Amino acid sequence: MIFPNMPQRFDFNEMQKIIEVLKTNKLWPYPVDDPKGYVNMATDLLKTFFNMPYVVPTSSGTASIHTALGGLKIKAGSEIILPPITDAGTVAPIIFQNAIPVFADIDPITSNITAQTIESLINENTSAVIVVHLAGCPVDLDPIIELCKRKKILLIEDAAQALGGTYKGKYLGTFGDVGCFSLNDQKHITSGEGGFITINNENVYFEAHNFHDKYYDRHDRGVRYHGIGLNYRLSELDGALIISQLPKLLNIVAKRRELGNMLSNLLDSINGIITQKAPENSGHSYFFYMFRIDTNIITKKRDEIITFLNSQGLKARGGYVEQPLYKTKVFQDKSFFNGGVWPAELVANKTIDYNINLPNAELANSSTISFSFHQGLTEHNIIEISTLIKQAIR
Ligand SMILES: *Cc1c(COP(=O)(O)O)cnc(C)c1O
Repeated sequence: MIFPNMPQRFDFNEMQKIIEVLKTNKLWPYPVDDPKGYVNMATDLLKTFFNMPYVVPTSSGTASIHTALGGLKIKAGSEIILPPITDAGTVAPIIFQNAIPVFADIDPITSNITAQTIESLINENTSAVIVVHLAGCPVDLDPIIELCKRKKILLIEDAAQALGGTYKGKYLGTFGDVGCFSLNDQKHITSGEGGFITINNENVYFEAHNFHDKYYDRHDRGVRYHGIGLNYRLSELDGALIISQLPKLLNIVAKRRELGNMLSNLLDSINGIITQKAPENSGHSYFFYMFRIDTNIITKKRDEIITFLNSQGLKARGGYVEQPLYKTKVFQDKSFFNGGVWPAELVANKTIDYNINLPNAELANSSTISFSFHQGLTEHNIIEISTLIKQAIR
């Protein structure tokens, strides 16, 4: 097959807005209450879109996770539960905020963590859970929300791959204490680099806003530098791009969902193929496409299947990440910082061991095949892909 290129994502709207910004002679997003500021206008559009009272724009998805942890005042040495199969941007801020990542096993069908896999890891030192809607497949949130309430721990959603995805009629990223998003070039819509967080609590909003801008107290509410924060600001150019990209999101997601669901229906009829199933009453946003092979039924090696797919024009790869994050050398060695110490471990006064085995995560990672997916595919392409996969596993 000839896999189509990503369709043109930027048009006259983006170009016009960028020129508008340049003509203002100002590229940073202040004053904070300027109604004509482009980052401010983008923030307002995001608040309306998500029906959330507060949004803080950030310079990346990674920065959005870090800003969430800062805004929620996560305690140094506390433990944060997350999945082992995710972007490095989910975990790095935990390390830099001096908290301890604790990896939970996943559900083999969705590749997401569940209330069950989280609960056994909760102890008196647990401060939060970060769920990741992997590939855009919604996490089954209700049982996790109930669990976090019962255990009095915070819930953060990493919705970087799930822009426009839904759960029980609401957008992903609006269920937790903070929802985190990325707008990097790979995501459904983009400002080049960028991200944002959604918040429903006023105090968390001011703390997060301060954290993302050096505690400069841009809202003039108290004392400048009453905390330590980084510079995770967006520029007005990014704001202009968000303003022109956001109206395109729902069509992009609708198209991907239609095509992705069609492909899953076709693949479900093949013995030995396990597709990623979204929970009931939820909407997948197909950031990329992933499926698993049941190695009890399909005896052909995954590498051979992938080689065949690639030879036929479908650029597929094994897994999403090369290995679960805890297996990487930096986690095995706990060499996060220079000088041979890991401050969080000292604060917690506990030795953390990443020499663990989460069976479903390892099984899923070794039997997953994924490939990029976008709104420019046609129904004909979807039939071609399913036919290729059928041929590849023979
Ligand atoms: C993209 C992504 C991030 C990080 O976003 P950046 O903008 O690249 O920093 C974090 N988590 C997940 C799940 C992602 O897909």
